[in-house]
Amino acid sequence: MKNKLSKTSKLGTKSWSLQAIETCPGSVGADGKLVAACSGCYATTGMYHFGAVKAVRADNKAAWQADGWVADMVSQLARDTHFRWFDSGDMYSLGLAEKIYQVMVATPHVKHWLPTRMAKFAKFQPILAAMQRLPNVMVRFSSDAVDGSYTPGVHGSTIVPDTENAPGGVSVCPAYGQGGKCLTCRACYNKDIAVIGYPAHGKKMAKVIRLAVAA
Ligand code: SF4
Repeated sequence: MKNKLSKTSKLGTKSWSLQAIETCPGSVGADGKLVAACSGCYATTGMYHFGAVKAVRADNKAAWQADGWVADMVSQLARDTHFRWFDSGDMYSLGLAEKIYQVMVATPHVKHWLPTRMAKFAKFQPILAAMQRLPNVMVRFSSDAVDGSYTPGVHGSTIVPDTENAPGGVSVCPAYGQGGKCLTCRACYNKDIAVIGYPAHGKKMAKVIRLAVAA
């Protein structure tokens, strides 16, 4: 079964992803609708509709369940310093979470950044806490909001519609002022930076924000 790492154009580091929404149980609110942040998700637009991009994500969903997946991932990260989990998708399965934890433990030379909404589910909290205790891992629980709001001590990221007026305690991601690239920034991996604010971008997110403001 094929297991495929992608290269993120923003970070320039490797990433492992799944299909957005279908592997994101945390994207649905109590009302059964997508939460605001997921309604405008970039991973449901543009090139993410391409067959080849979807195929990689479908292959990865099957691949992680095979024996040997942890060893394969560890081997593929042998020479890396940073790794991003889930450029799209989320850690939908406890079995997957346990395998990701094993990869993190076996690659102490790699800094791992894992964005997720799975902390909404009690059964995931122990494994997420175990990941967060690892010195080489930063797990960021994503806020559902698109207005920059977040819960201190819970969320590690939010979406900010106005970079000039981000809420207190939010470090605004500089990528959109530097051609969409991280360049030397590695704030997402930094445990000392509590909350990152990602500037809203894309037509789909702009519409979600307009509707949220009008509501
Ligand atoms: S905060 Fe820094 S590391 Fe994170 S996405 Fe933005 S530029 Fe990249």
